[in-house]
Amino acid sequence: MSQTVAIFSSLLALIFLVAWLRERRQSAREKATQDRELAEVKNRQLTTFAAIEARQQTLFNAMTEGVMVLREDGTVVLANEAFRGLFDLHSDIRDRSLMEAVRFHEVREVYDETLIAGQVQGRELKLPLLEDRTLHVNSAVVLDTRSQRQGMIMVFHDITRIKQLENTRREFVANVSHELRTPLSLIKGCVETLIDGAKDDRDATNKFLGTIEKHANRLTFLIEDLLTLSHLESGHLAMNLEDTELKATVDRVCEDLSRRAEKRGVRLSNNIPADLIVNADSNRLQQVLFNLIDNGIKYGGENGHVVIDAARNKEQNIEVRVADDGPGINWEAQSRLFERFFRADKARSREQGGTGLGLAIVKHIVQSHGGQVWVESEPGQGTRFHFTLRLRNAD
Ligand code: ADP
Repeated sequence: MSQTVAIFSSLLALIFLVAWLRERRQSAREKATQDRELAEVKNRQLTTFAAIEARQQTLFNAMTEGVMVLREDGTVVLANEAFRGLFDLHSDIRDRSLMEAVRFHEVREVYDETLIAGQVQGRELKLPLLEDRTLHVNSAVVLDTRSQRQGMIMVFHDITRIKQLENTRREFVANVSHELRTPLSLIKGCVETLIDGAKDDRDATNKFLGTIEKHANRLTFLIEDLLTLSHLESGHLAMNLEDTELKATVDRVCEDLSRRAEKRGVRLSNNIPADLIVNADSNRLQQVLFNLIDNGIKYGGENGHVVIDAARNKEQNIEVRVADDGPGINWEAQSRLFERFFRADKARSREQGGTGLGLAIVKHIVQSHGGQVWVESEPGQGTRFHFTLRLRNAD
């Protein structure tokens, strides 16, 4: 009997053991499955985070503003590509201190100011060591939900070009005002002198009226040139390109200028080959030729010779040349000749009624035709202006 009980107990124990083992194996299997699932979720999360981070980084780098984020201790957390471009940085600046990363005390000053004020809005930074770059910066202290300081964000915008345009505009307005004021005050002076009694003297009256006419003309030319330039620069002026006979066009301009040339004893020679037909806006081309030939007459010296010729260049375009045998232009002045209101010889330009805009207009028109214009000159060796035009389409 007791043997039967013993066998039964052993059997029971064995059954329990098997059941326990099976349960353990089952729970180990379940745990493994759980671990695997957890790992997968984790992996998926990591992949999602990485994707989000990559997307943020891409967005961040796509921004035109330079952005830098700093920790509370002033070290760099991140900086986008635009920021690195603005400050000419070529290495990784993460984890560096602000001054190590960006060696400009001007930026450090904005940082300090932001720490005190909480934010800095629209401060301008001029960086002479970075090609005179001008940056506009906004910065703010970053706080967490408990208003604890976490760090700082600084956003930089490159406004160098805007500043340059502002300067050009300011200079232009100052120049125009000066150019208008000079003939106006001369006219006013003449009128006052006439009123004060000079009108009773016939010779004096004629002299003053002559001066008034000269300066009134100068004002008219100036306003006409300003309007032309403004039209050209607006980009709204379409060039009416058509087949244009070059030699005939030069003949027309020489005819218009013949009296002026005669007065100064200047000979005009049109050496353009008869068969050249260019693709150009005929009226605008006349304006270019008029300004260049007129300058040859005005500045080339009395009894001089102005020669106009043209030939195909190696790009198979037409290169037109207007050459005089006058005093020439010095090197320094040559590089600025096509700027508005620039004059190599101020007194001569004024005396000749020049507006200082002729060559700026020439440059605009030639460029609007897809061509180029340049000058060659040496003091005492005359001046040669060159510009290129396209041949008519079929050629
Ligand atoms: P302006 O109305 O004064 O003639 P331009 O723009 O036509 O203005 O020319 C600018 C300056 O370039 C002139 O004032 C003059 O000093 C110089 N210049 C232009 N053409 C010649 C030339 N053929 N020889 C010498 N100087 C010239």
